[in-house]
Amino acid sequence: MYQLPKLNYSFDALEPFIDAKTMEVHYSKHHQSYLDKTNAALAGTEWENKPIKEVLQNLDKLDESIKMAVKNNGGGHYHHTFFWEILKKDTLFSGEVASAIETEFKSFDEFKKQFSEAALTQFGSGWAWLVVTEDKKLEIIKTANQDSPITIGKEPILGIDVWEHAYYLKYHNKRAEYVENFFSVINWEQVNKNYLEAIK
Ligand code: MN
Repeated sequence: MYQLPKLNYSFDALEPFIDAKTMEVHYSKHHQSYLDKTNAALAGTEWENKPIKEVLQNLDKLDESIKMAVKNNGGGHYHHTFFWEILKKDTLFSGEVASAIETEFKSFDEFKKQFSEAALTQFGSGWAWLVVTEDKKLEIIKTANQDSPITIGKEPILGIDVWEHAYYLKYHNKRAEYVENFFSVINWEQVNKNYLEAIK
């Protein structure tokens, strides 16, 4: 049985960029729902006590009867657990990940442009990601629904949820404004940790 991870900050901690009501609903309703459905799908199977990451890495080995439920909800659980940790106001773009981004994308501005483009062009629900590939290179990708970079062998170090539930209450249809403001709540300390772990 997986559990809802503790949120290490209050719902209003990311105001005004991400509003308290969105955080509350996103965490206590949406994440909870992914979690409950993941637990229900995996109950009684050999996978129920495995780390969710391992399950997503082995999605093709799951029984057909639960594969889709685990892809959608297990992905949702994993991604949201990840997402809460990479959000924080007032951290500095710094550390090894900053150097790596500047090397790979030439500049922070160019990285921001490409990442935003991925977030804006993900049609419908999904995510845009900064991942570390199997050969330890940085790459920007987007995925539909809760399809996980993990399943295709890529390690996410930063991600933006572009499902409408992540921004609609405050931003309505203006995804571009949400994406712009997301850059004010990236926890670069955590992204750097994720990067260092991914290139090990
Ligand atoms: Mn979400």
